[in-house]
Amino acid sequence: MTDLHRLSIRELAEGLSQAKFSSRELTEHYLKRIAKIDPLVKSYVTVTPEQALAEADAADAALKAGNATALTGIPLAHKDIFCTKGIKTTAGSKILDNFISPYDATVVEKTKAAGLVTLGKVNMDEFAMGSTSESSYVGATSNPWALDHVPGGSSGGSAAAVAADLAPFATGTDTGGSIRQPASFCGLTGLKPTYGRVSRFGIIAYASSLDQAGPMARSAEDCAYLMNVIAGHDAKDSTSVKKEVDDYVANLNGTSVKGLRIGIPKQYFNVAGLDTDVKTRVEESLKKLEEMGATLVEIDLNMTEAYVPTYYLIAPAEASSNLSRYDGVRYGYRCENPADLMDLYKRSRSEGFGPEVQRRILIGTYALSAGYYDAYYVKAQKVRRLIQQDFLKAFENVDVIAAPAAPTTAYKIGASLDPVEMYLGDIYTIAVNLAGLPAINAPVGFDKDNLPVGLQLIGNYWSESQLLSIVHQYQQNTDWHTKRAAIAEENA
Ligand code: GLN
Repeated sequence: MTDLHRLSIRELAEGLSQAKFSSRELTEHYLKRIAKIDPLVKSYVTVTPEQALAEADAADAALKAGNATALTGIPLAHKDIFCTKGIKTTAGSKILDNFISPYDATVVEKTKAAGLVTLGKVNMDEFAMGSTSESSYVGATSNPWALDHVPGGSSGGSAAAVAADLAPFATGTDTGGSIRQPASFCGLTGLKPTYGRVSRFGIIAYASSLDQAGPMARSAEDCAYLMNVIAGHDAKDSTSVKKEVDDYVANLNGTSVKGLRIGIPKQYFNVAGLDTDVKTRVEESLKKLEEMGATLVEIDLNMTEAYVPTYYLIAPAEASSNLSRYDGVRYGYRCENPADLMDLYKRSRSEGFGPEVQRRILIGTYALSAGYYDAYYVKAQKVRRLIQQDFLKAFENVDVIAAPAAPTTAYKIGASLDPVEMYLGDIYTIAVNLAGLPAINAPVGFDKDNLPVGLQLIGNYWSESQLLSIVHQYQQNTDWHTKRAAIAEENA
């Protein structure tokens, strides 16, 4: 079969269980596509063909023996931020260029236990800091819709791999939008779960109170399958929550769009940098949901102006603390011929970290330093609480909140936005992480340059099933999620 890459996760699972094709055939099909097409897209940092084929053979044996799970034998790609035993994990940084983890992240352990086949590790912004994936030390990844554009970030490799049909689905992480924004830029569906829903154990930490892993795929249905595997309490992550996990696949039709109250924040649609095509496509998608029976309710989110400054104090502060462990002694890159211990620290870190990571370490260390702690860090924490309360107040009157995922479509590679300009592009995603809420991106059309536009729906705590269900029904009534970039149409 030449078109295995066009099948949904459900179709792949059916095909495998009915022995229409084997996991080995499917895995070889993807490996062939990666070999041919990825040199143009550059989504993979590491491809692991031998391990993938061994896993595929084990999956085929399990399928034959009748002890397969729903997803046994289906391939996926992991963002290079998830620790993988025996396979390099770089987090896009030179400082971890030679790092091989002695253990698997819980998410990876779970995908393995479910019989999923790991194709490899995909590119990302260095330590997940960025919105373009250009800050990766291995270089930029291309957007499959326009190769001279970025796929977004930080999970840009995950998004590009799926959008070019170089993996059926992928894992990502989202600290301030890194699942939703690249999903938006590449025309995919991506879910950022409630903080605590998915274990952070073995995920290279950026900002620990904001980091959360989630699925990136073509549709809400595909995302639901991966959520069923990765969600759940983990004793190894003290912030993961002991709460029963929904069956996200079974619940795909569980929420009625009829009567659903969708909040439209006044402040969000008046943001200065909001592109007119993005605004129009998002409004059209909301009209569609209205036709399907939803009610649009105008709401106020008065803290909108505080999102960017608050996030860009808290996230760098946590990062500066998390990244202090990379000292050239215990992990990763070490400078050559250090004169003494201080020289070893200084040069290993200056040579090992890229400019954006260094910028954030500086900002974060400053915000946490003795004389400024109260004025910056503590104040930001107080504002963070107000932002959360703003959302909770809104949820008294609406079921979900709608927003663009990003104010623009994908940027050109090398557009070299100045840092503040880039930070402002995170306006629609970062507050969700500050509040710990779940949110989803769904593709809702294209701009004048044929670049994808995304609608974001933000839910109350633990509403992952509801978000997936709403998007699933939208996708039953529209076909944006079925559109493929020209490069994905190519056969290997
Ligand atoms: N763009 C945001 C940042 O640079 C979000 C990144 C993320 O979610 N990892 O911090």
